[in-house]
Amino acid sequence: MQIYNTLTRKKEKFAPLQKGSVHMYACGPTVYFYAHIGNLRTYISQDVLRRALEHEGYKVKHVVNLTDVGHLASDADTGDDKIRTESEKERKSMREITDFYSKKFIGDIRELNILSPDMMPKPSEHIADILSLIKKLDGKRYLYKVGGDAGGMYYDTSRFKGYGALTGMNFEKLQTAIISGYRVERPEGIRNPTDFAVWRFADPSMKEFVWDSEYGRGFPGWHIECSAMSMKYLGEHFDIHCGGVDHIPIHHTNEIAQSEAATGEKFVNYWVHMEFMQVDRRKMSKSFRNIYTLEDLEKKGHSALGYRYFTFGVHYRKLLNFTFEKLKKSEDELSGIYAFLQKVAEVAEQGSGSADPEFGKLVDDAKQEFFKAIADDLNVPVALAKMHSLINDSSTRLAAGKMAAEDAKKLIAAFTDFDSVLGLEFAKYASRSGIDSAIEGLIAEREKARKGREFKRADEIRTRLLHEFGIALEDTPKGVRWYRVGSKKAPA
Ligand code: AMP
Ligand code: ZN
Repeated sequence: MQIYNTLTRKKEKFAPLQKGSVHMYACGPTVYFYAHIGNLRTYISQDVLRRALEHEGYKVKHVVNLTDVGHLASDADTGDDKIRTESEKERKSMREITDFYSKKFIGDIRELNILSPDMMPKPSEHIADILSLIKKLDGKRYLYKVGGDAGGMYYDTSRFKGYGALTGMNFEKLQTAIISGYRVERPEGIRNPTDFAVWRFADPSMKEFVWDSEYGRGFPGWHIECSAMSMKYLGEHFDIHCGGVDHIPIHHTNEIAQSEAATGEKFVNYWVHMEFMQVDRRKMSKSFRNIYTLEDLEKKGHSALGYRYFTFGVHYRKLLNFTFEKLKKSEDELSGIYAFLQKVAEVAEQGSGSADPEFGKLVDDAKQEFFKAIADDLNVPVALAKMHSLINDSSTRLAAGKMAAEDAKKLIAAFTDFDSVLGLEFAKYASRSGIDSAIEGLIAEREKARKGREFKRADEIRTRLLHEFGIALEDTPKGVRWYRVGSKKAPA
């Protein structure tokens, strides 16, 4: 598999450090608010990367942190702690805030069919590891103390040879880039504009998420947390580190500086960065007030998997502009795939005839091309185009009644294989029992929507049941009953 490495600025053949296994870390959300669908796009792309590696036979150890302390208003370490600010606003403890939004995030990724990470560590539970890394850096004289409002232990970036390699800029250039790009006001006593805090001193009013240490009472910086937790669980030198493109100039640049200064060896082999989602050609961001959450989409009648499929329309290293029209179009397309799979399932289960070698070859070729595109830096849009051309060819055969049961089975096996990377739950639609459980799932979802007085969504689910599955609903005093349209049987 080829993957684009930000560090070398080219596509490289992936080779793991240990045969057969991949250690992969992704910077998780700062759990002070709902993740927006832009954030979620990033986690979907990372999920596709993980699935593609697993499809190639690797055992992947996947760690995603949940940042619950230390992420300040600006990524460049100025302003207030995002979680502290939210806890004051909502009049809840910081722990309550982070627990609530962590749960929401985990719920979102589950709905999006993102494979559950092996671990989701929180910095507040790793203070000893973080402090021991800080001590190592201090021992090697990378740190200095700054007093005053933004006081803390700071990392002297001029001491790290090759600082900023990820950005492609040299040290001098980065100094001005950081100042002008992020309009960062540096506290007094800072030696270089790029220097950052690994430990911030707490003001005496802080009661929560502060710890005593030999450096003074305080809390860790955001960058040191990821260095400490990724190395703890994946080793001091590991394979893949992911994040959004915004992490390149500061967060990941600083992670490299800390980790490599502490260990004296290379930190990560492949740096993989996901491009932004936009709205009206502007980055989706809470500060621009242009965000949607997954819940917002669902309230408007859209589905999590429909959104997942929507993000597949554009390569992960390209900007993706969000519109509801495009989302709806993607959802219709996905429904079309599900409807196609049901027809194929019917032939596989009830059809006859013997396999057609010509059709078999068509399926094999499509499979090969699909996975070739995936292996080319996860080119999902191209892979999907291959899949759609297979759907077109197969649909012609289906319509002409020319598909044998064996061919249909082969087709289903190919789609199951595609889905191991796409994660769109194709299997649910490709067997009778799967279809029945999908129907029951949708009925339950409609009931939930009705109870929540989301009638528009309830109606949309009803329409979907009719169009995709040929299922009609009847609301009776005893509850909802369903039957197949055209079937003479009594409602089930
Ligand atoms: P945060 O909670 O701000 O640390 O962001 C969580 C993840 O989402 C990070 O990997 C960010 O780089 C990424 N991210 C932030 N904004 C966007 C966006 N508009 N589109 C895609 N990813 C984003
Ligand atoms: Zn991180």
